Amino acid sequence: MIALGHGCCFLFHRAARSQAWAGLPNRGFYLDVEYLDRLIRHVQRTGWDIVTLDEALGRTREGHGRRFINFSLDDCYRDTAEVVVPLFRRLGAPITLFVTTGIPDETLRLFYAGLETIIQREEQIIDDDDRFDITSPAQKRAAFAAIVRRWDEAGDHAASYVRFCVRHGYDADALDAQHRITWPMLEAMRADPLVEFGGHTVSHPHVAALDRGQATAELTGCRARLEAALDQPILHFAFPYGQPSDCGPRDFELARAAGFHTAATTSAGLLRRGTDPFRLPRNTINGEHRALPYAYAHLTGLSGLAHKVLRRV
Ligand SMILES: [Zn+2]
Repeated sequence: MIALGHGCCFLFHRAARSQAWAGLPNRGFYLDVEYLDRLIRHVQRTGWDIVTLDEALGRTREGHGRRFINFSLDDCYRDTAEVVVPLFRRLGAPITLFVTTGIPDETLRLFYAGLETIIQREEQIIDDDDRFDITSPAQKRAAFAAIVRRWDEAGDHAASYVRFCVRHGYDADALDAQHRITWPMLEAMRADPLVEFGGHTVSHPHVAALDRGQATAELTGCRARLEAALDQPILHFAFPYGQPSDCGPRDFELARAAGFHTAATTSAGLLRRGTDPFRLPRNTINGEHRALPYAYAHLTGLSGLAHKVLRRV
């Protein structure tokens, strides 16, 4: 088991009730909320402190006798306010919300979320000239994956998505409104000691692919927007996608220059005394992995190997 004084950051995106989760076309992007409930209660019972990133940062600087976990959520959709934060409040556990400010600012098309809603509602869809019969959950999952692959290849997700909406009689703005978190929802959480806010860029780009000026604008833009809206310092940042190809040494330095105190990645690993606060490891616990052993694997520090083994259980 992990040594005393070490910490672990868990990352996820969306959450849905068990029954809804089972039928989601993109359920790998969600946590089953009953699973999340069990996981939080379990770690609370077994001697882990659940802490904010402020607290985690202090512990990695100074060392601390107790082991700890930070839960963070990236992007922020409507279910963040309606499902996730209420759960953490009920259990008395803090959560860090990394907000992509283009979502509440309505400048970002939520094409995956909208595609998912269309696939859930329809029994047949057409992309280019191909027809997909989608009556079963498995067919809906396969269709979602196939269409995302096509849009990835086409390279312009927003345009492909809008064409898809028109073809199936949907209003893309109305679908966005169903899924996006709003500023009033975020403002309603700003005084909650269990909710810690961080930045996750303005438009959710691959930061490493941007030139220096664009990357700086994404980092400082989301920070300034959140500070103005929430009336508090925004000290934490998480890189979209978060893998080594999405954020590198230049970008860690830009995060520091933008005034953040930490920058988080999605590289698996643990927090230890002396961990670089500008490349914090986080362990993704999105939806595919509903069994508690998967989360335990992160806590034992064996993420990569245990992941492979436990997925077969
Ligand atoms: Zn993200």
